[in-house]
Amino acid sequence: MSTLNALIAERAHELEFDACGFARATAVEAQAVRQHDQWIALGHHARMAWAERNRDLRNDPRQLLDGAQSLIVVAMNYFPATTQPPQAARVAYYAYGKDYHLVMRERMEALAQFVTQVCGGATRCCVDTAPLRERYWAQKAGVGFIGRNNTLIIPGRGSYFFLGVIVTTAVLEPSEPCTLTCGDCHACERVCPGGALKDGEAVDANRCLSYLTIEHRGDLPEWAAQVLHGQVCGCDICQQVCPHNRHARPTTVQPFAPLPSVMDLTPQRIAAMTSGEFRRAFHDSAIAHMRLSNLQRNASATTTPPTLHPDK
Ligand code: SF4
Ligand code: SF4
Repeated sequence: MSTLNALIAERAHELEFDACGFARATAVEAQAVRQHDQWIALGHHARMAWAERNRDLRNDPRQLLDGAQSLIVVAMNYFPATTQPPQAARVAYYAYGKDYHLVMRERMEALAQFVTQVCGGATRCCVDTAPLRERYWAQKAGVGFIGRNNTLIIPGRGSYFFLGVIVTTAVLEPSEPCTLTCGDCHACERVCPGGALKDGEAVDANRCLSYLTIEHRGDLPEWAAQVLHGQVCGCDICQQVCPHNRHARPTTVQPFAPLPSVMDLTPQRIAAMTSGEFRRAFHDSAIAHMRLSNLQRNASATTTPPTLHPDK
């Protein structure tokens, strides 16, 4: 690793990022472009219209910043030390603590400032705020590999990580891309309640509880309501079964400690919640990006035992 990279990685570590890698800013490879185009053509992005927009930007991060030369990919652990009690309305781990957009951005801005100090030039921080393929670039930057569950897996540490990318005009030595794969494991595909994962394909959002509970508007498909089992925000099943998460260590990032409003959340509380209470409870949480009506729809959905694999 060059001295510049080592300095940036050290500063990233001080800011509590768990991984930091470097990639050259180039166009996305044709195969990855084709995969995304096919995902859209098959309608597997469901109603996420944003996925269809900004194709050119998504396929070439140099368009996000004039003179961009490099990408710095950072990852931050959110695996919780404690989980919700059994009677709780279940929330995916990523939304247990404070909104990662705010937490990551603040620290990425500090890292970007450091990059400007030591390298000069311009930077742009992206944490779900630009059409950028974070997992693709994380693989290129040697941070990890994209698993069959569509998450970025950091070898030895698992997938419970938020990703952020700093686009910079600084010329930084690229890291070695990560070449690991899932090998013969197909555990996540077997357990996905909606059959949303198929080998080599991006997740079919129409069959994914994470998409359906958070972004889908209107009624849930009947099969989805039957397999929710108290899950009101997101789904961690394909990460929980992943062998790479067996040794996940709890985050030490204080803002990601579970919020009382999440730990105490029950279906009854959600049912009685007003929009004012929702805002007060979740103003600094990623749950605030959901609609209260979706939370209430999910909480009231049936929790009868799952049918066998749902029909497509
Ligand atoms: S988040 Fe849940 S529903 Fe979505 S792919 Fe993973 S296991 Fe399947
Ligand atoms: S569960 Fe197995 S197949 Fe799925 S992402 Fe993890 S290693 Fe890959």
